[in-house]
Amino acid sequence: MKMKDLGEFGFIDRIAPLCKINSGDVIRGIGDDCSVVSLSPDLYLLVTTDLLIERVHFLVDWQSAHTLGGKALAVNLSDIAACGGIPRDAFVSIAVPDRLNVDWLEDFYRGMADLADKFKVNILGGDTTRSLTDLVINVVVTGFSNPKETLFRNEAQPEDIIAVSGPLGNSAAGLELLLNPRPIPDTIASPLIYAHISPRPHLTEGRTLAKSHACNAAIDISDGLSSDLGHVCKQSGVGAIIFEEKLPLSEPLIKLARELTVDPLDWVLNGGEDYVLLASIRPDQLTDVMRAAASDGWELIEIGKFVSTPGIKLVRASGETTAIVPRGWDHFKY
Ligand SMILES: [Mg+2]
Repeated sequence: MKMKDLGEFGFIDRIAPLCKINSGDVIRGIGDDCSVVSLSPDLYLLVTTDLLIERVHFLVDWQSAHTLGGKALAVNLSDIAACGGIPRDAFVSIAVPDRLNVDWLEDFYRGMADLADKFKVNILGGDTTRSLTDLVINVVVTGFSNPKETLFRNEAQPEDIIAVSGPLGNSAAGLELLLNPRPIPDTIASPLIYAHISPRPHLTEGRTLAKSHACNAAIDISDGLSSDLGHVCKQSGVGAIIFEEKLPLSEPLIKLARELTVDPLDWVLNGGEDYVLLASIRPDQLTDVMRAAASDGWELIEIGKFVSTPGIKLVRASGETTAIVPRGWDHFKY
């Protein structure tokens, strides 16, 4: 069997039994946004890692080295955010092809350092080696969380409200413009491309959700709404209904879809890399969490609810209901 037949998540299911847990302090291993280890009754250690490969995840000339450095760290901080944690240390390993010079690499690290400063993250080391072909970037980030305020994927309850911490689909629309450049006005193209090349980790948002004690589960939307909501549903043993009319679509996204005469729904459901958080909120506390979000400077947007019947359904603007099959980004299948 080839990896493209199994897919990333089929592969993870297959190797999970081989990822051995040999100590009693592991709260979560493979399969959540971060691994979680209990350090003391009051403290969890969070660890996450992400791999970015040139030509699979990005092209070098899509963005500056500075921007790429920022993104390599940001996508890991997003996983810490999804667990409601506070990031602490980063370790950066790169395999560098001969064509990238030292100035480029310095700019890459400067991009990472600027974001690290913003969130008070230490960059403590890593490994550097030569690559014969593509640039390979691996970042590991550690963080801490309060055990009573740590968010997992598997505790969503039927009747919980599904809410997100920002607009969906912008990154996929930006990627579309990077892959197939078109003469689109800058006011439309720039914010979408920026969303793709320079995602903002929703750490403040994750902390608001964690502190609310009203969020039963959370995940960051890295692979796409359909896939990531699918992970929460599968791991929590619930289903979901989402409402097209409630999905947060940005003005540039709507305008680009109109220009290209496409339905933006595919970007929104299956695009990925938005790095906003999806949260499962107790319905009786939704207003309180929305108020807490507003006072922390962000908006929590209700898009649907969890139900006890398995499967994800989308209620279209027309009133018609369709089943959604998780088919977000899977590198082995595209
Ligand atoms: Mg994640």
